[in-house]
Amino acid sequence: MTDTPRLALTNISKSFGGQKVVDDVSLDIMPGQVTCLLGPSGCGKSTTLRITAGVEMQDSGSIHLDGNLICDTKHHVPPENRSIGLMFQDFALFPHLSVAANVGFGIPKSEAHKRVPELLAKVGMQRHIDRFPHELSGGEQQRVALARALAPRPRVMLMDEPFSGLDDRLRDEIRDETLDVLKAEGTAVLLVTHEPTEAMRMADEIALMRKGRIVQRGAPYNIYNSPIDLEAAKFFSDIN
Ligand code: ADP
Ligand code: MG
Repeated sequence: MTDTPRLALTNISKSFGGQKVVDDVSLDIMPGQVTCLLGPSGCGKSTTLRITAGVEMQDSGSIHLDGNLICDTKHHVPPENRSIGLMFQDFALFPHLSVAANVGFGIPKSEAHKRVPELLAKVGMQRHIDRFPHELSGGEQQRVALARALAPRPRVMLMDEPFSGLDDRLRDEIRDETLDVLKAEGTAVLLVTHEPTEAMRMADEIALMRKGRIVQRGAPYNIYNSPIDLEAAKFFSDIN
């Protein structure tokens, strides 16, 4: 057992045009843990995620992966070397590649022949290994996208509202399946959402964000039952 977080953000800040959109954000996530960054549209969630992925630079603060510095204001490990997987709502599959080729994209061939079917089995898509994206439903494409994101064995998975394109019933099903797969792989997950229901369902820990700041952190049950203020209480009140 180790208590070094898989992912640690320390005092991350970022301004655009003089406006602070991420304001002194600190977070840590253990392997196999899901942390939800939850807050209204425009509060700085996606910017925090992009900084973590390395496609945006913070103005101050640092990020560590398994205790190793991956970026501060002087060091910057490029996105492709961060061992971080990404899943976004509009993160499309390559339309001209089969399911197998999509999932195997970017991992060595010698590894792909074992890893690809293994991952497709995990997401329940092994029967569709030779299909193409246009032959799959939205939910099936989502499952393949998850397998693809996991193929290089990322230590961290960043997910930005990944389920918002799906209808309600399918969304619940895919959320649960996604959680099972990520937990089995031991990946630390930072999931961005503006939906309290999604955070309540998926998170081990919720970080409530408002105007660039994390205003409350805790287990979903605790945040739901003891919101920090009226605004937080109202935000949770439309959960059914
Ligand atoms: P969220 O994901 O919580 O909806 P974002 O992180 O996308 O919020 O955006 C936070 C704020 O930063 C918004 O006001 C947005 O307009 C602004 N913003 C985001 N990216 C940029 C950018 N590249 N340039 C200027 N402003 C930006
Ligand atoms: Mg966003």
